[in-house]
Amino acid sequence: MAAKKPIKRSWAEPFKIKVVEPIKMTTRAYREQAIEEAGYNTFLLRSEDVYIDLLTDSGTNAMSDRQWAGMMLGDEAYAGSRNFYYLEDNVRKYYGMPHFVPTHQGRAAEHIISRILIKPGDFVPGNMYFTTTKLHQELAGATFVDVIVDEAHDPVNAHPFKGNIDPQKLEDLIKKVGAKKIAYVSMAGPVNMAGGQPFSMNNLREVHALCKKHKIRLWFDATRACENAFFIKEREKGYQDKTIAQILKEMCSHFEGLWISAKKDLLVNIGGFLATRDEKVYEEASNMVVVYEGLHTYGGLAGRDMEAMARGIEEMVEYDGIRARIKQVEYCGKQLEKYGVPIVKPIGGHAIFLDARKFLKHIPQNQFPAQTLSAEIYLDSGVRSMERGVVSAGRDPETGDHKYTELELVRLTFPRRVYTQAHIDVTVESVASVHENRKKVRGLKMVYEPKYLRFFQARFEKL
Ligand SMILES: *Cc1c(COP(=O)(O)O)cnc(C)c1O
Repeated sequence: MAAKKPIKRSWAEPFKIKVVEPIKMTTRAYREQAIEEAGYNTFLLRSEDVYIDLLTDSGTNAMSDRQWAGMMLGDEAYAGSRNFYYLEDNVRKYYGMPHFVPTHQGRAAEHIISRILIKPGDFVPGNMYFTTTKLHQELAGATFVDVIVDEAHDPVNAHPFKGNIDPQKLEDLIKKVGAKKIAYVSMAGPVNMAGGQPFSMNNLREVHALCKKHKIRLWFDATRACENAFFIKEREKGYQDKTIAQILKEMCSHFEGLWISAKKDLLVNIGGFLATRDEKVYEEASNMVVVYEGLHTYGGLAGRDMEAMARGIEEMVEYDGIRARIKQVEYCGKQLEKYGVPIVKPIGGHAIFLDARKFLKHIPQNQFPAQTLSAEIYLDSGVRSMERGVVSAGRDPETGDHKYTELELVRLTFPRRVYTQAHIDVTVESVASVHENRKKVRGLKMVYEPKYLRFFQARFEKL
């Protein structure tokens, strides 16, 4: 007799459901009309017409009872709200940054920091790009330069830290343009556009040393920093016994400052902030925030929003919570692989990325395979996903042609604490069905193109 295998022990969510929100089930005929009216762009669907909404994990989190209770404690004073001071305490305690200004969301903080640190003609190197981050850097007059490791551009490379910066690429840029022309190094983790891939602490240390040597500022897009911390704990030697909070603090210690969108890690629906240890930058930021957001003690937020953020910071570093989130994503990815669906590897922190190039081999990139696939999944089941490929990348400002990215992906993004394992199963079965019938799928043509961040509002027709 073969030796008995030990019983597998599963993880589960460290919470139970207290309030439910009904969702609408629709027919294929209904969805055909809905997606056509939305110009085959899932951003233009009404959320009411969506069954399982995996468009984004931004601001779609379920708050805890403790956060909701905190909403009732909003101190809605124009100036000096109690909730502001509680949030400030937690930014200091968990991110280790002495100064901070709240903003209404992440891109507002990106706007402010880009305007402060960038002079026209400067360069901003970063580990791949994020849409709003890069746009604000460009609007302030900088040229963004991707210095991520080559592995990040290969969807099947299993490197555990595909979010790393390639120090050689960074040094080459410094040699080419001179350190004075580099406004700051912009580091994010996990890297969304690479498939939710983390950077390692070791890489961060190396980048920090390089920046220090050349007197270049190092800034952190810490929007998903806790997910990055979780991967460091799981994959990097020496971190197994550290807490998420300790790893987060250590990561932040390498940066001069950071910005976040609270709509991700912080488990709330709106908010953001800018935090720094540089007093001069703080002074300028608190001047600018008054112009664009509101007084520096509310920055476009209600007191109750800041209270929910402050409480969210305490919850985001809980190991069981972050583990349940990341393991749910992993569960989805592993199920999809069983059906032979091509996905980006390793499986990332917040989302599964379908490799649309492989999925729809017969559709050329100028017929938007990822956009097409995203629409097909909605048609099949009412599951909403998002394009992350040539439409998201926009146009090359010099040639005017599409930027033909190596990665042509569809993202299934998991809101925190919202969906159950059964929802994941339904999603997997739908994607697998579309995959089985993939040869019949036709591409799209773009019929309307906005000037900025075109993926949000572009419209398409079936070819
Ligand atoms: C969401 C996000 C932003 C932008 O934040 P918003 O709150 O959507 O304005 C910036 N960087 C990263 C890494 C993000 O995930």
